[in-house]
Amino acid sequence: MFSKLRLATACKAGELSGRLSIKLGRGRGETLSGRVILALDTHAISKLSAGRDIVLVSGTNGKTTSTRNLANILRDFAGEGVSTSESGANMPAGIAALLAQLPRNRFAVVECDEMYLPEMYQKLSPKVIVLLNLSRDQLHRTGEVRKVSNLWHQAFTNDDVTFVIDRDDPFLEHAVSQAGHVIRVSFSGRRHPDAATCPNCAAILDWSTSDYACACGLGAKLPDVRADKRLDGPQRNTVLVIEAARLMGAEILADEATDLINKAPDRIHTFTAGGKVVPTHLAKNPESWRQALGDVLADQVVLSVNARGIDGRDTSWLWDIDYAKLRGKRVICTGERRLDVAYRLSVQGIEVSVASSFAQAVEEFTSEPIQAIVSYTAYQDLLAAELGITTGNGGVQ
Ligand SMILES: [Zn+2]
Repeated sequence: MFSKLRLATACKAGELSGRLSIKLGRGRGETLSGRVILALDTHAISKLSAGRDIVLVSGTNGKTTSTRNLANILRDFAGEGVSTSESGANMPAGIAALLAQLPRNRFAVVECDEMYLPEMYQKLSPKVIVLLNLSRDQLHRTGEVRKVSNLWHQAFTNDDVTFVIDRDDPFLEHAVSQAGHVIRVSFSGRRHPDAATCPNCAAILDWSTSDYACACGLGAKLPDVRADKRLDGPQRNTVLVIEAARLMGAEILADEATDLINKAPDRIHTFTAGGKVVPTHLAKNPESWRQALGDVLADQVVLSVNARGIDGRDTSWLWDIDYAKLRGKRVICTGERRLDVAYRLSVQGIEVSVASSFAQAVEEFTSEPIQAIVSYTAYQDLLAAELGITTGNGGVQ
């Protein structure tokens, strides 16, 4: 009885502080709300998860988009309300706020930061965990890929949850090698840039085909689902999401699945600057930059990088990317760290110039098509400017 009262008080106080935060213009209020809830009831996450059917979504790239996609698919195909976070808050405070939301639907789709996944797995007792991929991130975030893979490997030893993984990623295969139930999805293999050696035994991985193999047995388990090799990153994530939705009880026919994969959501938003339209990729780390660069077809490109909080103040990750696809194009760098990007590109022999703002960079081009790749806060600034909101962070005008 006392435990229930404590939780109810914590949730009420969290709701009020969240509302206050929004009123004071300090963001959506989720993180503050969650912090208040957890300060008043340290067991709130476990209590709020009890009796619910929860999916956790984690991985380096595509977490927020895939979480939203899965929530939408579950709503459409299972015909029930789904609790989820719209903002991408994926640490304990954000997760507590999401679970406290009313109505507390039976289904909850929860995005989870890689480093918190073992803890949230224990506290939320999810039915399904979707692991999208593991690739190099900014150093301040999760450190080495191997570290995350080992952390997960040590945590996932029970058989009370079903994992859905892209088994072409050897780090994910290692992460779930002690887990009881795994749906392995394969896209006919593809080389992982950080997996020269085996995540399990450190021997040299055999990549003589497009797939990997090791004498220790890593990669020997056959896939449960085989999907098209030609799918891009967002489409591959959608295949995993569909498998998770099916495990949650959604009936998705084959042609409906194909339709969902064809319409896979991507992090591209078309901004307008000076009357010109600029399809813009949000890219936050080396792997998402690689994917974004692969999508750049225009000969005129704007790159915008900041180094605030969530972007990481350390821009060394820029050196983990191969920019060869930009050769021969006209590239303009902007954002607070435009000189870092410009120097990195010049080392690779790519001609660049710099501009003081996104709008000015676009103005330098006299015609379309123009494409852009921007870091997280640069993207938020563009969205805020589009909505007429002042960010107070030297927003891109
Ligand atoms: Zn091995």
